[in-house]
Amino acid sequence: MDSQIEFPTIAIATRNKHKLVELRRMFGLPESKALSAADYPGMEEPDENGDTFEENALIKARAMCEFTGHWTIADDSGLEVDALGGAPGVHSARYAGKHGDDAANNSLLLEKLASPGLPRTAHFTCAMALVAPDGREYTVNGICPGRILHSGRGDNGFGYDPLFLPDGHDKTFAELPTETKCLFSHRAVAAEKMRAIMQSLFGKQPEPTSPTTR
Ligand code: IMP
Repeated sequence: MDSQIEFPTIAIATRNKHKLVELRRMFGLPESKALSAADYPGMEEPDENGDTFEENALIKARAMCEFTGHWTIADDSGLEVDALGGAPGVHSARYAGKHGDDAANNSLLLEKLASPGLPRTAHFTCAMALVAPDGREYTVNGICPGRILHSGRGDNGFGYDPLFLPDGHDKTFAELPTETKCLFSHRAVAAEKMRAIMQSLFGKQPEPTSPTTR
């Protein structure tokens, strides 16, 4: 008898198109099996008022799971800079005040690191949550270490990508093709752990695919 459970439709709780492209790729989810917040225009954004990446990932995943009735994946992520005591951290998306203003966030980060001699080591962190319609919850984490450059390089990606040089690479996240970033980023590390959990829940699952733009 085939003991495998059919791979379910998965909702991805993000309105960030770049994250969506990355997550669909990492999970190998075709559009028919991966809904996003864009498919639910009436769904309100929950208040991301957790103190940790993990709490915020759970807040987002629970909200979309409740609204859609589907298994839901959410990620909450950010940049933690050693010389700034881990800032911008959970406030990464709104570091300079306005949510998602990448240019202002990057400028503020460079300003904060302007004093000569400050160490520029940092890492991206990603917490990922999977929430089931029956209330089961799973969380994993991933990090990607690197350093902050003195000026941005590259046009790919989003957020702090142009300023972030991952350890062991000579290109920033914004200079690397999405498929390369998706092999070792903080989100990729978390997604690999989540894929293992999903494998144990659902059996065989799709392989990672090339990025799509939807
Ligand atoms: P979230 O959507 O609430 O998880 O906020 C994530 C924020 O952290 C983004 O708006 C970016 O500023 C930053 N961030 C998270 N992951 C990345 C990444 O892969 N590259 C660049 N910035 C990122």
